[in-house]
Amino acid sequence: MDDIREHYLDWLRDAHAMEEQALTMMQSTAERLKNFPALRERIEAHAVETRRQATDLRKLLDERGSGPSLVKDTLGKMVASGQVLSGLFATDEVVKATMASYTFEHMEIAAYKALISAARVLDDEVAIAVFERHLKEERAMADWLLGQMDQVARAFLARDEVGLAVR
Ligand code: MG
Ligand code: FE
Repeated sequence: MDDIREHYLDWLRDAHAMEEQALTMMQSTAERLKNFPALRERIEAHAVETRRQATDLRKLLDERGSGPSLVKDTLGKMVASGQVLSGLFATDEVVKATMASYTFEHMEIAAYKALISAARVLDDEVAIAVFERHLKEERAMADWLLGQMDQVARAFLARDEVGLAVR
């Protein structure tokens, strides 16, 4: 049971780091998107949810006697820095950012599924309720992003074609 608890707290710390990284990523993406207001607004709304998610996870960690992650190279951080880099250099940033955000949401979904499994093994009902809520928010964001992909790609191509700003 001690090993299980160790893995569980480890995954919880990783999830907390993942949410903090998601927040950084979304803030930098949103502030660069000037001509895609729907995308920008949805990202800003999810950033608000994400800040709350990070606080919720931090609280769970504190209550379970564990601090935040000291690990610098979690999967979340790698994916996030990949997006920030692609965002800085790509002219088709808006398309790449939508794709990368969709990918990131799915990593979050998988992380919460694993956390729910571990929390069930350990009968951590309080945490399960938190993870289920976050899972629902990540799924809603992923679905919304996929629903926007066609529109974002077409709008980018149309603007680029006539020389309008492409972000
Ligand atoms: Mg999240
Ligand atoms: Fe998310």
